Amino acid sequence: METNLLLKAYLKKLRLPTMTRDLEKAIAEATKTNLPYERFLLGLVEQEVYSREENTLRVRLARAKFPIIKTLDTFDFTAIPSLDKQTVLQLAEGNFAREAQNCVCIGNSGTGKTHIATAIGVAACRAGLKVRFTTAAGLVNDMLEAKKEARLAKLNNSLMRIDLVILDELGYIPFDATGAQLLFNFCAERYERRSLLVTTNLDFGAWTSVFGDESLTGAMLDRLTHHCHILVMNGESYRFRESQKEKNRKGVKTSNATRKAQKNQGE
Ligand code: ADP
Ligand code: MG
Repeated sequence: METNLLLKAYLKKLRLPTMTRDLEKAIAEATKTNLPYERFLLGLVEQEVYSREENTLRVRLARAKFPIIKTLDTFDFTAIPSLDKQTVLQLAEGNFAREAQNCVCIGNSGTGKTHIATAIGVAACRAGLKVRFTTAAGLVNDMLEAKKEARLAKLNNSLMRIDLVILDELGYIPFDATGAQLLFNFCAERYERRSLLVTTNLDFGAWTSVFGDESLTGAMLDRLTHHCHILVMNGESYRFRESQKEKNRKGVKTSNATRKAQKNQGE
C-alpha cells in the first residue's frame, strides 16, 4: 500500500496525471488477470499518451477559433460536382500547409466554402499543425487596431507562428487603403514561409474591387497563387436547397393535416 502511495507521488512529480489517476485500477486489474509486467506498463503509459494527445488537440482546436466545427465526413460531395473529392482529401492531410502552399476556395454563397475550409483546418489541427480561422475583414480590423495601439509587429509575429491561417469571406467587404496595404503585407510576409487558405465569392479578376488598387491586387494575387490549390465551388446554394426542402416538407405536412381535417369534417 505504501509502495502505491509512493508510486503515485512520483508519477505526480513526473507530471503524469493520467497514470497517477489510473494506477490503482490498473494494478487491481493486472493482479486479477495475471497480466505480464510489460503489458501492465504499456496499458498505463498508453492512456497517458492518448489523453495528452487529446488535450493537445483540444487546445489546438480552441486556439484555431473555428466558428463551428465542421468535418469532411458530413460534407456531401455529390452536391457540388465542380469540387474534386480526392483533391480535398489530400489537402486535409495537411502537407500543403507544411510546405507553405496556399489554397483558395472560389464560389458563390452557400456552396460549402466555409465548411470545406473549416474541415481542412480541423484536419490540419489533427495532423499536428497550428491553425487560425478568421474572416478577412476580422483580420484587417485586428491589424488596424493593433496598428493604432502600436502592437502590429507583435500581432504579425504571433500570426507567423501559425502554420495555416484561414481567411474566410474575402470579397464581401472592401478595404480602405490602409486595410488593403496591411492585408497585402500580411500575405507577402507569409509567401513561401507559411500557408494561407482563402475563401472568396469573387473571381480573381474582381479582386481589385476589394483592395482598391490594381497594382497592389496584382502583386498580392501573384504571391497568393504561386504555390496554390484552387477549389472552384460554384453551384446551387446548399443553404437555399436545404431551406427549400424544409419548406416542401412542411408543405406536405400541412396539406396532409388539411386533408385529414377535411376528411374528419366530412365524416
Ligand atoms: P459558403 O461559405 O460557401 O457560403 P457554407 O460553408 O457556410 O457556404 O455552407 C452553408 C451551410 O450549408 C453550412 O451549414 C454547411 O455546413 C452546409 N453545406 C454546404 N454545402 C454542403 C455540402 N455539400 N454538404 C453538406 N453540407 C453543406
Ligand atoms: Mg462562408
